Amino acid sequence: MHIDVPDAPVACPCGMINIQMIDHVITDCPITDPARHLIENDDSEVNLTTLFTSKLDSFLLWLKATHSFTRRFGEALGPVPPRQGASDLVGFSIATLLHVE
Ligand SMILES: [Zn+2]
Repeated sequence: MHIDVPDAPVACPCGMINIQMIDHVITDCPITDPARHLIENDDSEVNLTTLFTSKLDSFLLWLKATHSFTRRFGEALGPVPPRQGASDLVGFSIATLLHVE
């Protein structure tokens, strides 16, 4: 069996998990938490099954705001205010990590 070694770090820069998974970035990651209010339901939970249906517009805004799944992940929050009481994204970018010697 041959497994390709990824050429980018696979751990989430938040340090919570060793392999960055989509559901972690959307529902758990502290880096994207300041924007999570955009995609939460009234009960403050994120329902992954509605992100591509009734929550699609909110999800697209969240993707733009968080730079999730791009090399700008963790950079400053896009054109939305952070969650009430939260700071902006933590400014921890994978692109920055790649350029560390
Ligand atoms: Zn994370």
